[in-house]
Amino acid sequence: MQYFEPKSIDEALSLLTKHGAEAKVIAGGTDVMVDIKYKEEPACLINIKKLPGLSGIQENGGSLRVGPLATIRELETNAILRAKLPVLWEASHQFASLQVRNTATIGGNICRASPSGETLAPLLVLEASAKCAFAEGERKQPFLSFFEGPGKSVLGAKGLLTEIDVPYPPAGSKGVYLKHAVRGAMDIAMVGVAVLMTPDAGKSNIQDVRIGLGAVAPTPVRAPKTETLLRGKPLTAALLKEAGALAATEASPIDDQRSSAENRRWIVEALTRRGLEQTWKAATGKEIA
Ligand SMILES: Cc1cc2nc3c(=O)[nH]c(=O)nc-3n(C[C@H](O)[C@H](O)[C@H](O)COP(=O)(O)OP(=O)(O)OC[C@H]3O[C@@H](n4cnc5c(N)ncnc54)[C@H](O)[C@@H]3O)c2cc1C
Repeated sequence: MQYFEPKSIDEALSLLTKHGAEAKVIAGGTDVMVDIKYKEEPACLINIKKLPGLSGIQENGGSLRVGPLATIRELETNAILRAKLPVLWEASHQFASLQVRNTATIGGNICRASPSGETLAPLLVLEASAKCAFAEGERKQPFLSFFEGPGKSVLGAKGLLTEIDVPYPPAGSKGVYLKHAVRGAMDIAMVGVAVLMTPDAGKSNIQDVRIGLGAVAPTPVRAPKTETLLRGKPLTAALLKEAGALAATEASPIDDQRSSAENRRWIVEALTRRGLEQTWKAATGKEIA
């Protein structure tokens, strides 16, 4: 296996152009090293860990700029992220063990493009976007259209994720990320649900709501029919029940070693209801009518 430590993004991109699908980028290595041990060894490994400009978390006007090399632990311990993007903070907090969080990067979690990747459903509801670099140039890509299937994204074999831009949600919004896994944070999510709710000025109705579902489709997905059902209405017990049932129909889970598809649908229903209830109470200060 050939091993490279490029000194610049341009050098990394020309290595990717030269070696294409034979090459594997490595950041924290918590996925890549497991693959090398149990699946297959790439012909060429490109270590981006020391590339300048890909680290850190900084405010950038109305959004947070997160470097793809920021570790999950850096997300978890960042006070601004915790205060302004609690839905993403919760995902980092419920992510594996401290040892894994210290090593795993957000960029690796995104580029792995696993439907169960913890940070993905939160990034969808936050309507965050990626900066993707290719030898031909750079482009900004909303995460809503970034994922193409399990392990597949618009980056393909020759692209590099160089920045994550997360806009702050509207004032008064409340968000939550709920993970269901057999061994809690230590386990990969069986289902993950992210909810972001914005109440209207009088805190009487849902002005906007975004629901992200993880581990229940080939990519993380939003639940647009459920969001439409809820917008402009107060959250009543009947509406909550209807919304949970509808969200379950927007998932297309599979049977695997972690759960049956039927069980996953049931969990989507339960977590969506719980997420809506929690965000409604936090955003309006009201109980469900
Ligand atoms: C014990 C254990 C527990 C885990 N628990 C969880 C969990 O609870 N939740 C969860 O979501 N995941 C979990 N994971 C999976 C893994 O830790 C995460 O997906 C992690 O975020 C990957 O980050 P990394 O930096 O280690 O990525 P790497 O292994 O370095 O890379 C992952 C993939 O991303 C690509 N890549 C990385 N950075 C870039 C970039 N900037 N541009 C282009 N491609 C890039 C690599 O080529 C590779 O395909 C767990 C893994 C282990 C081993």
